[in-house]
Amino acid sequence: MFRSHTCGALRIADINKEITLAGWVQTIRKFGSITFVDLRDRYGITQLLFNEQLNAQLDQTPLGREFVLQVQGKVVERSNKNPKIDTGDIEIEVHTFTILNAAQTPPFTIEEETDGGDELRMKYRYLDLRRPSLKRNMELRYKVNRAVRNYMDTQGFYDIETPFLIKSTPEGARDFVVPSRMNEGQFYALPQSPQTFKQLLMISGYDRYYQIVKCFRDEDLRADRQPEFTQIDCEMSFVEQEDILNMFEGLVKHVFEDVKQISFKEAFPRMTWDDAMWHYGNDKPDIRFEMKLNNLKVEDTVHCDALNGVDFKVTNEAKTIIAVSIPGAASFTRKQTDELTEWVKRPQIGMTGLLFIRCNEDGTFKSTVDKFFSEDKLAAIASFCNAQKGDLIAIVAGEEALTRKAASELRLEMGNQLGLRNPDVYKPLWVIDFPLFEYDEESKRFVARHHPFTSPKPEQIEWMQDLSKYAVIKANAYDIVLNGTEIGGGSIRIYQRDLQEKMFAALGMSKEEAQEKFGFLLGAFEYGAPPHGGIAFGFDRMCALLGGQESIRDFIAFPKNNAGRYVMLDAPSVIDAHQFEELQLQSTVKK
Ligand code: ASP
Repeated sequence: MFRSHTCGALRIADINKEITLAGWVQTIRKFGSITFVDLRDRYGITQLLFNEQLNAQLDQTPLGREFVLQVQGKVVERSNKNPKIDTGDIEIEVHTFTILNAAQTPPFTIEEETDGGDELRMKYRYLDLRRPSLKRNMELRYKVNRAVRNYMDTQGFYDIETPFLIKSTPEGARDFVVPSRMNEGQFYALPQSPQTFKQLLMISGYDRYYQIVKCFRDEDLRADRQPEFTQIDCEMSFVEQEDILNMFEGLVKHVFEDVKQISFKEAFPRMTWDDAMWHYGNDKPDIRFEMKLNNLKVEDTVHCDALNGVDFKVTNEAKTIIAVSIPGAASFTRKQTDELTEWVKRPQIGMTGLLFIRCNEDGTFKSTVDKFFSEDKLAAIASFCNAQKGDLIAIVAGEEALTRKAASELRLEMGNQLGLRNPDVYKPLWVIDFPLFEYDEESKRFVARHHPFTSPKPEQIEWMQDLSKYAVIKANAYDIVLNGTEIGGGSIRIYQRDLQEKMFAALGMSKEEAQEKFGFLLGAFEYGAPPHGGIAFGFDRMCALLGGQESIRDFIAFPKNNAGRYVMLDAPSVIDAHQFEELQLQSTVKK
């Protein structure tokens, strides 16, 4: 028997028991003729005491950090108790020990806070994973996984696996491709999601499907994305949007209750995409705090009368003007407002500047544009913005999309600075009625906002004939948003061949191309496809949020770095010449 207990198990009630433990050496502390060793495993840490006689033995065969050690000994009460650890009341009086395996000195400390930098931790991920914080994250991930499976089981969902070596799936990213040795010159694509397969499963009559599944997207890795990531992928038949929202609101509630003991008593609020954009400037609003955008003027339509009759070029010429009223910030120094101005001028935000109105405590107003705006006008703008005494109104102006985005970023930044985005407060909501299409500046055409299987609002289907209406057609598509992050999204699907063909055509796909790419699905629609819909959650992101952290990386056991590389494996890497030959590919790598 390797061990009778784990390193986290023994308590005062176990005193005098003869036990065997095995684990890793965390620390070694020598005091004259005795030595204390902290032995660690997944479950905890237990203090070992090596007496004088064993000390002599230790001198012969010295221990080091991270050695794998087995000890036999007796549980004794500690004189110097450590309330910080579960086993802190006891220690082990070691009788015999065996070094099961020696270890090199680790390249960074295996502690809660480590001295290892990112690259080093990635290279030695197996050591990094020994750290308590990562261990907690892995535990949390497992618990979320378990909670999801339990809920889905109670709701009658089947977990059905779908293949990885498939054909391109349209989630809007680039595919990873895999050459086929047996089919010369041909390639599989790795799934960006199981989208088409889960729809086929509905056509097969499986009614309720889910999977906790890997998806692969060859995207430029913006911060905190992984080329392979995990989704909770779900689909249901004979449902309307309402059924899906209720079912998966239930899932999120169950996970929070099970994993965090947090109950959401109320139904999650719902907000239309239009409202989210209008009030928050983006489609994943962080509703932990207010500070909504005030749309003074939008696309040349003035909503705040106070702007009329003012001889100020900036506000007169700007197509869109949006204000954010920052609570309690009237006392900002000139330096602070200058910093904010610089902040919006950064290329990521791209504004030319900011106008400010201070709403003083004494009821007066002071602005950077006093020359053009009388105090009455300033008061009227403040009232439009619902600003209170002590607030600072920051105003951005310019082209609509850019201005809205800038105002949204400014709101979030001020939320951060004022401590209004507490990671321990969870505010979920549904954003519904997404646009069906989205204009892609790069390819100068409309693309599917969600994916091409998303159904338009039935009453707007005929607008698909009219390109001028594309921008306003709405879909039965929804996202679930938590604390300003999209954690899941889905839609009610198209299930009739003719509508699906219309959709492909609207996206600029020829009949032949649609047939070549999605003939299997179009064909399946002709064999009794039920109305269906679904959703997929970003599992890694959900875990990170539940763990109160921003980065998904430390919730994935073996992640890739920001350049999509496995530092540990040194992958991707070149392949042998004979592999090229076998795959009948030519190496085009420039030497
Ligand atoms: N397949 C979609 C996605 O990955 C989710 C869905 O529509 O169910 O975003």
